[in-house]
Amino acid sequence: MDAVKHPKREKHDGPLNERLATSGFRFTPQRQHVYDVLLGDRNHPTAEEVFIRAKKGMADISIATVYNCLDALVKCDLVKQVNLDRDATRYCPNMTEHSHFYCDECGDIHDIALPATTQANLNLPRGFRVKQYEISLRGLCRDCAAKQ
Ligand SMILES: [Zn+2]
Ligand SMILES: [Zn+2]
Repeated sequence: MDAVKHPKREKHDGPLNERLATSGFRFTPQRQHVYDVLLGDRNHPTAEEVFIRAKKGMADISIATVYNCLDALVKCDLVKQVNLDRDATRYCPNMTEHSHFYCDECGDIHDIALPATTQANLNLPRGFRVKQYEISLRGLCRDCAAKQ
């Protein structure tokens, strides 16, 4: 019996180096590390929070490098910026269409999947075409709602 081949499972550095290269960015261990930090705890950290987490695995990384890495990841469409009111920009590695639920109590931000029909249900005036949309939700997360 022939063994089934899995050509896609070849070992390499994963999609990050390719995505960086396509957008004209160099792959660096710092960029990989910052991306890993964002993928690790997906609670939409600010750049400063990313910096604090990044230092745990890479003690000599600087805040300037973290900003540089975040900028590269955003430009490569691997991470998106999330802005709420006048808060510091936060970073989200979930690139599927989703909305954000902001908890007024604990300040956490949760990803909420958008139903596929949302765009059709927007009730847009005739002739308008949506290219991108962002819906923000506010309220209490499950944990905070349970405490009340
Ligand atoms: Zn909460
Ligand atoms: Zn998000």
